[in-house]
Amino acid sequence: MATKKPPGRGTELEILNAIVRIATLDLELRPMLQRITDALAQKFGWEFVACVTVDRDRKRFTCEAVTTTQNTDIDVGYSRELGSGVVGEVASLARPILLDDVLTAKNYVETMPGTRSELCVPVLHRGELVAILNLESTRPREFHDQLPLVQTIADQIAGAIHSARLFQQAQHANRALAEANRRLEELSRTDGLTGVANRRQFEDVYEREWRRAQRAKGPIALLMIDIDEFKKYNDRYGHQGGDDCLKKVAETLKAALTRASDMVARYGGEEFVVVLPGSDQQQGIATAERLRQRVEALAMPHEAATSGNKKVTISVGVASYHPDEKDRGETLLSAADQALYGAKHGGRNRTCAAVFNSVAR
Ligand code: GH3
Ligand code: MG
Ligand code: MG
Repeated sequence: MATKKPPGRGTELEILNAIVRIATLDLELRPMLQRITDALAQKFGWEFVACVTVDRDRKRFTCEAVTTTQNTDIDVGYSRELGSGVVGEVASLARPILLDDVLTAKNYVETMPGTRSELCVPVLHRGELVAILNLESTRPREFHDQLPLVQTIADQIAGAIHSARLFQQAQHANRALAEANRRLEELSRTDGLTGVANRRQFEDVYEREWRRAQRAKGPIALLMIDIDEFKKYNDRYGHQGGDDCLKKVAETLKAALTRASDMVARYGGEEFVVVLPGSDQQQGIATAERLRQRVEALAMPHEAATSGNKKVTISVGVASYHPDEKDRGETLLSAADQALYGAKHGGRNRTCAAVFNSVAR
């Protein structure tokens, strides 16, 4: 068995210096503590060095860093109830515990098989417990003379651990805030009833895609979609029935789009708009027809319909264009709207394409 020579005073001071330097270098709790347990284990030849934080409200401790040459389940993130073990006792009394031989200790809970001695020292910052240093060894009396040194180390790193925990809490709060903002932002871009993009998101996406089409000199298509005889649907099935129908139609339109860049938005009332970046007139018509057929295939009864087959249907207006720098997106939008008007007048449940597209480049 290798015998370990305890470091002399000069060395202890050097080690202490090194530890303090580490503590002041890192702002992140776990990397900092890991470097500290690594340094302690390496410089003193200790077999098991861990640092845990204590959550008194939840009565739990969590391992933040561990350095060991032994087989143990303890890992970073390991968390346990404070219970009656040595760590629990140190946490509640805020006083160190030295066990020269765990075999004669009544409150020892084995975390490392073969442990014979243990030293547990509270890390106190202005009287507040911020962490616990936990040392274990397979040799009895390993830490018999080490308490003053370890207590000094604990005192020296307390401030840094306190700051790192504050930093960690601030980071958590920041992340939670960013996540809440992201969700709010998402909500503000989503239609509350149907869950598809709302008109605001459509405006953003359409503007972006229009400019992209201008740069790429590529085509872009718009579909304006309106549910046929929806007023009568509401009259017959009630407003709730109408809402359910709107949801079903929106879901179907969204599911029928194939490209990641395609987007359906609720334009208002029972009208939807679809942006098809990169689609020319022919592709726009093909997509429009696919959407129209999918809705028809739902076979949702519409007994009050005067036209068609007493099913919920949609009319679709298509417009596509290769925009120039000087062209404005509104032109395409009103062309699609006019095409929709044509589809309604043509008898509904059909696709109609804007005429100007046939002469467009
Ligand atoms: P057309 O075939 O010409 O489109 O006939 P239409 O009855 O669908 O025409 P119109 O656009 O005049 O009527 C749309 C109706 O959609 C009017 C309104 O009551 C209903 N509507 C609009 N928004 C909602 C909604 O959020 N929920 C429900 N249930 N109905 C809505
Ligand atoms: Mg309608
Ligand atoms: Mg309408």
